[in-house]
This record gives sequence, C-alpha cells and structure tokens, in this order.
Amino acid sequence: MRRQMDKIVNKRRLSRLKKTLKRINAYQDTFRQASDETLKRQTQIFRERLADGETLTSLLPEAYAVLREASWRVLGMYPKDVQVLGAIVLHEGHIAEMQTGEGKTLTATMPLYLNGLTGQGAYLITTNDYLARRDCEEMTPLFEWLGLSISLGFVDEPDYEYAPGEKAAIYAHDIIYTTNGRLGFDYLIDNLADGLESKFLPSLYFGIIDEVDSIVLDSAQTPLVISGAPRLQSNLFGITKTFVETLEEDIHYEIKKDEQTVWLTPEGITEANHYFGVENIYEDGLFDLVRNINLALRGRHLFEENLDYFLFNGEVVLIDRITGRMLPGTKLQSGLHQAIEAKEGVDISVDMSAMATITFQNLFRQFEVFSGMSATSKLGEKDFFDLYHKIVVQIPTDKPIERIDMSDRVFKDNVSKNNAIVERVCALHQQQRPVLLITRTAETAEYFSMQFFERHIPNNLLIAQNVAKEAQMIAEAGQLGAVTVATSMAGRGTDIKLGEGVKALGGLAVIVSEHMENSRVDRQLRGRAGRQGDPGTSQFYISLEDYIVERWGKHKLLEDGQLDRVDNEMLRESRLFQQRVKQIVTRAQRVSEEQGEHIREMANEYEKSISAQREIVYAERNRVLKQSEWTKESLIALARDVFQEAYHRHQLHTHTALQTYIYQHISFQYDGDLNGMNLHNKQTVVDMLVALFEERLAEQERFIGNHYMYVRFMQKVILKAIDSHWIDQVDALQQLRNNINNRQNGQRNAIFEYHRVAMTTFEMMCGAVKAQIVNNLCQSVPTFDKKGKLFVHFPK
Ligand code: ADP
Ligand code: MG
Repeated sequence: MRRQMDKIVNKRRLSRLKKTLKRINAYQDTFRQASDETLKRQTQIFRERLADGETLTSLLPEAYAVLREASWRVLGMYPKDVQVLGAIVLHEGHIAEMQTGEGKTLTATMPLYLNGLTGQGAYLITTNDYLARRDCEEMTPLFEWLGLSISLGFVDEPDYEYAPGEKAAIYAHDIIYTTNGRLGFDYLIDNLADGLESKFLPSLYFGIIDEVDSIVLDSAQTPLVISGAPRLQSNLFGITKTFVETLEEDIHYEIKKDEQTVWLTPEGITEANHYFGVENIYEDGLFDLVRNINLALRGRHLFEENLDYFLFNGEVVLIDRITGRMLPGTKLQSGLHQAIEAKEGVDISVDMSAMATITFQNLFRQFEVFSGMSATSKLGEKDFFDLYHKIVVQIPTDKPIERIDMSDRVFKDNVSKNNAIVERVCALHQQQRPVLLITRTAETAEYFSMQFFERHIPNNLLIAQNVAKEAQMIAEAGQLGAVTVATSMAGRGTDIKLGEGVKALGGLAVIVSEHMENSRVDRQLRGRAGRQGDPGTSQFYISLEDYIVERWGKHKLLEDGQLDRVDNEMLRESRLFQQRVKQIVTRAQRVSEEQGEHIREMANEYEKSISAQREIVYAERNRVLKQSEWTKESLIALARDVFQEAYHRHQLHTHTALQTYIYQHISFQYDGDLNGMNLHNKQTVVDMLVALFEERLAEQERFIGNHYMYVRFMQKVILKAIDSHWIDQVDALQQLRNNINNRQNGQRNAIFEYHRVAMTTFEMMCGAVKAQIVNNLCQSVPTFDKKGKLFVHFPK
C-alpha cells in the first residue's frame, strides 16, 4: 500500500521533470550543429542574461543542453535523459536517487555549470579526498572548455601548510570539488579569523552532496570539533569508577539501552551520598562529582569492549559502527573517553576542550541551496524531510535492472555460516565467475582472504586503508575469475565494470557475510552488482551470532531457548526455524535503525541551541570584521552599560572596591583621588568611570598615532572579546549536553533543561563580552613590529 503510494507520487514528480527534459532536448540539434566557438560563447551569453535579470531556472534548459553537447565533444559522453532528470532535481535543491553506475558524477556537472555561471561558487561535496580529486580531475577539461574555473577545494598533501591568501584563491573558483570534512573545518577556521584579510570562505551558495545519505545520516553522530586547550583534568575518574562497580541494576540504577541512557535511582543517590560522605550529591558545589558518577555509569554500562571500542596498545580506541574499523585519534567528548579508560584500568588521557564545533547537518544549512544524490536515498526520505524539507526523487535507470537479489541463507552460528560462504565462493570461482565478498569488519575480511589463499584462490583484500589503491582494485573486481574480499566502505564510489565473458556467466556475484546496522547500507552493497543493466546477483548470509543480533536482538527474542536446541542440520531442514532466524535478524536491524534515528533526532535537538547561538555570534563577528569606524558615542554607551552593571555586581560603593575595579578593568596606573566623592550615588560613580574610560581611549589612540591602525586595534580587541567567551560557551554547552541526559527526569525534560541553561548562559555570555570589550580597549597593549604590523597584547 505504502509502496504503491510512493510509486504514484514519484511518477507524478517525474512527469513534471520530463516536461523540462523535453525543452532541453528541443535544443539538441541547434547545439549539435554549432561550432566549438559558438558553443563556448554561450557561457558568456548566459552570464550576460543573468546580469540582465534572467533567472537560473529560466536558463536551465539551454544551459543543460549546452553542457550536454560540450560533454560529448570534450569527454566523449553524452548525458542520458535519465541523467538530465537527476540533474534537474539537483538544481531544485532536492535529493536524486540514482543507482550505482548510472553516472552521478556526470549528472552533477549540469547543475554545477548552471550555478557556477553566477560566479558565487558551486560545490560538489563527497566523502573522501580521493573521490573529490578523481571527479575534479575528470571534469576539469569540460568546465575549462566552457570557460568556467574549477579547483579542488584543498591541496592534496599531508599536513600541507597554506600560504596567506592561498585558500581564498582556491575558494574564488566558479566550481569547487571538496569533501564534507575539508569544507566543515574550513568553515570553522574561517570564523576564527581575526581580520578581514584572513577570511577566505565566501558565503556558501550552491552545493551538491554526493553519497548524501552516508554524509548526512550515517556520520550524524560525529560533529566536527576544533580542539583548543587541554581541559583541567578531573581526578575523580578512579573513585567514581570503583563506586559504580558496587551498584546493582534496577536497585541503584536503571538503563535504557536503546536510548543510550542510564541514571541513578533514589536508592542509588542515597548510596552515593553515603559512599562519598555528603548530605546530597546534587547540592551546589558537587557538580563535578555528579558528572563523574554519570560518566562512570555510562562508560560501564553503555559501552562494550569489542563492540564499541578495542583495547589496543594500552589505549581505548573507538570502533566505527558501520565499518567495524578502528578510529584512532577520535575520542568521545567531555570526559566519557576518560571514564572508559578508568573502567579498563589504562592510562587516562588528556581531555581537550572544544573550541568550535558544527555538525554536518548544520554545515549544509549554511548553503543557500543544496541538494544530494545517492543510490540509496529513498530509505532515508523521512530523515531528509524532517531535517531539511527535501524530497527524494527516484530516477529510473537507463536500462532495466537485471540483478537478482536472492533471499538470505540462514545459519545457526558463525562457524557453519563462514564455512558455507567459503564453499560457495569456491564453487563460483570454479566457474570463473567474479565474486565480491563483503564483510562488516576488517578481521572477518582477513579471515576469508586467508581461507581462499589456503585453497590456492588468489584474491584481493580491501579493508579501507588506502582509498586510492582500493578504488583501483575494486574496479577490477568484475574480471573473469576475480575474488575480492572487502569491508562495506572499501571502494565505495567506484564503479565495477564487467570483464569479457562475465555476462554470460551471470555477472558479478555479491555475497555479504552479515546484515549491516542499517538496511540502507545493505542496499548499497547489493548495488555493487548489476550496474547499467548488467546481470548479477546479491545474497546475504545470516546467523544468530551476527553483530546486529548480538547487539540488538538477543535478550527479547531468544529468550524461549527454542532455537538453542535446534542444530544446524535441523535448521537446514526446517523452513519454520529459518523463518524464525530471519525474523530475529530483521527485528534486530529494525531496532538498530530506530536507535540510529533516535540518536540523530537527539543530536538535532541539542544542536538547535548551539546553532542558533553560533549564527548570532558569527554574524556579529562578520559585522565587526567589516566595520570601518566606531563612533565615540557608541563606545561610551557600551561602557556606560557595563559600568552600571558593574556597580552592583562589584559593589563599587567602597573606596577599595572601586579602586580595585579601576586597576583591574580600566587603568593599572590610576592615581586619581576618590576622596570627597559620594560613592553611594551610582550615577556619580558611573560618570567618573566613563570619564576615565574616555581618557584611556584617547591615550590609546594617541599612542597608536594613526587612525587606520586605531580602527584595526578596535577590531582585534572586540573580536578577541567575542571569541574568548564564545569558545568557553561552546565548550560549556558541549559538556552540558554530554552530562545533562543523565538526569533522571526523562529525555524530553533533559532537552528542555538543556535549552534553558543554554539560553541563560548565552545571555550571561553577552554581558561578559561587553565587559571584556571595555576591559580590552582600556588595558590591551598595542605594539608594532619592524614592518609596522600591529600586534595586540591582551589583558589576562
Ligand atoms: P555512479 O557515481 O552513479 O555510481 P559514476 O559517475 O562513477 O557512477 O559513473 C559510472 C561510469 O559510467 C563511469 O565510468 C562514467 O564515465 C560512465 N558514464 C557516466 N555517464 C555516461 C554517459 N552519459 N555516457 C557514457 N558513459 C557514462
Ligand atoms: Mg559516484
């Protein structure tokens, strides 16, 4: 029923697109007959028409037709009708689902060309450096032929140091191919610039995200973080770890595993009060203790060795949930990593503070328009809609799909399953049919690879370590007699072409050794076979010992023990038991998907506060960066606000208090006489402080001597005040977020509480920034180097 509806809706969407396609096709002959010169000249003509007020959408049919013809002449590829349909979706800012091998790289060139005409920057964003570079290199001749400038968004060398202005030059191109990670970090870095000349990123105009589900949905849990200084280390990890080991589940604490939460019950709180010898752990001043207890609880009960992390060389190394790969260098934030280290009794590492962070979801919101493409977007449609109000249009394949997706083969345990896989691969290899065997973890891939070598079957092992080499290897996976063993991510984005004679044998055989955490990824894997109407097969092997069953299926569905008594023999014979196992696996995958969805939803909820605040702060920074004059009146008004506030906060009605305040905030050299002043009159005190402030400003200006430099000084001082407090706020919010969901009153309230605290602290921050600006203006020391460049030494 649901499917039927989806189909009808999709058909309607396609028929609208086909009307535009018709208009594009109508230009085909005109441009086919045009000379190279005429065709190239179109770019300039389009730009002029844009300048005269024509819209991109009205230019689309002609521009796409021009690009098609140019692609034919330059690359020898004429974009097919289905590619044009996808290209229209991309321009409209939605998601195009196009199967593997349908030519998404070429499809993207049409909207990139059209949007690149504006000169505001059109981006193609993909998952890794290798793919960005490959696609950029392949498409460069096409764009250059048409007179657009194109660049890779980064210099592809490890630890490359950019010269001043180099990044700005890169981002000035019409078209940029880059990765989500590169762009995200650049966005954060750009917003730490302390002068207009160090800004390099233009405002983001148009972007297309390749493999959009992988970037937006699968990597949702890992925000980009620029780390700052090491955080003051807590010494409570050890003792809280020992404490939580004494607690009993359902008496002292409760767990909701699928929501990733654990909290103390009232009994648990009593126990903690007792253990730590305090009246009430929730009283003021014990925040750090409560935080550490919660961290210890989460570390102990929500993270499992070998599922979430490995112990490797005495370190806790996280595991990528999708690929099963180790993620060295990646750490859980805000003390959680340290809590797990304490649990495992290894050395406790330093926790770095966060200086700037953004999630990928929000990074893309910075684009005026963005769109996405992937082979498996439909299954993520709900997410895309909830997140961005984007729809997914399923583009038909150019040729009908011939691949046969076989039903799962069922086993009781991993040993019998793995044996069957080896047997099957050997049989296929006998016929010379190419096989791609995909596993979840690198270890399993290595195991199979060994098994084949022992049986004298040469094979390629791809475990996502060297993307460039792996792309080469996977491209060869379709040759006669090839056996390739790979983890799920290895070689993604590379098309597998069939060798001679392979079609007759049935095409590529994809075998997957277990279901992945998400059915979207499963579908992606099946799609490795049967590209562009090729024959091919795909089949999953499952057992009750699969990761998703271990992780998400076990407790509820296996309780009756019925299946335990079944042996492999019986299982092979009995459809009923097989059905049962399939059910368990499917249920486990659904739980896993729901959990992923839940985490994404939470991540988004939490991100709302920080992203709203980030927008305010970044906008303010940009305003300051562009400002070329500060009136004396506005500065005095600011100072007056600050002093009025300070009068109460610092109780400036005594001589000592007032003198100290002046020393600390306005002038270390103050030698005025406060006698005879009525300090209980707020107005008098504030007026006096304002006068002092004016004096200091005049001194600073006189010292700097040159008005231009004085303005630069103002700018640096104000930015510094904003940044230092904003960086603290980012870190505080991140800590708050990681700690707040341990409160006992449920997730909804936790989020509400988080937003409340986030707002209060932000308001406090704004006050603190103003005070800091006044302080910085008065007490910073400007100096000049030999070349006359301004340096500012800030107070504190
Ligand atoms: P996808 O990203 O959709 O999996 P690719 O962009 O990697 O697919 O393209 C797959 C292959 O098809 C590439 O070798 C590409 O050069 C080729 N290709 C794409 N479009 C065309 C076309 N219109 N005509 C001929 N070959 C094409
Ligand atoms: Mg691709």
